[in-house]
Amino acid sequence: FGWGDDVRDYIRTIPDFPKPGIQFRDVMPLFGHPRGLRAAVDRLVQPFAGLRIQHVAGLEARGFIIGGACAHQLSAGFLAMRKQGKLPGPRLAQSYALEYGEAVLEVHDDAVEAGEQVLIVDDLLATGGTAEAAVKLIERLGGEVVGAAFVVDLPDLGGRARLERMGVAVHTLCA
Ligand code: IMP
Repeated sequence: FGWGDDVRDYIRTIPDFPKPGIQFRDVMPLFGHPRGLRAAVDRLVQPFAGLRIQHVAGLEARGFIIGGACAHQLSAGFLAMRKQGKLPGPRLAQSYALEYGEAVLEVHDDAVEAGEQVLIVDDLLATGGTAEAAVKLIERLGGEVVGAAFVVDLPDLGGRARLERMGVAVHTLCA
């Protein structure tokens, strides 16, 4: 690692995780380093500073780490977009396609009030399926998605184009 202010210095690629042929981008060293975490948070929130963001919605689980830090930086609240079966209260569910099969994202049904502005944050944008489910949940609650911010973009997988087709402004720090 270079330990500078470039977030790429702190991200490593682990071959064959979680299965053979997958090049896993590991952002944990970025979150684990004082300068890395500071650089990531400052750059993720920069386009959204000064907007009236009520909540940062973080996607389980790495989106909780970086999204929580971004919420604090923006003086916003934090909204947990959770995997199925984790939330105790009345909730909305949104299913989305995975490479094989499907997954479900859930949110408490009173987490957003109509018209509130929400920023989605996660570590990495691949196909955009997870983030699209988050957009749908926020919009079903009556919220307005002001944007979606990710540390890493894998542009070949089409996530940015998919979110932009939904009218969502996408902000990423590196590819
Ligand atoms: P998508 O739904 O295809 O855009 O996949 C993005 C989701 O999968 C995010 O919640 C990421 O945390 C996770 N993900 C997919 N690939 C990677 C990776 O290489 N590194 C870290 N997270 C990943």
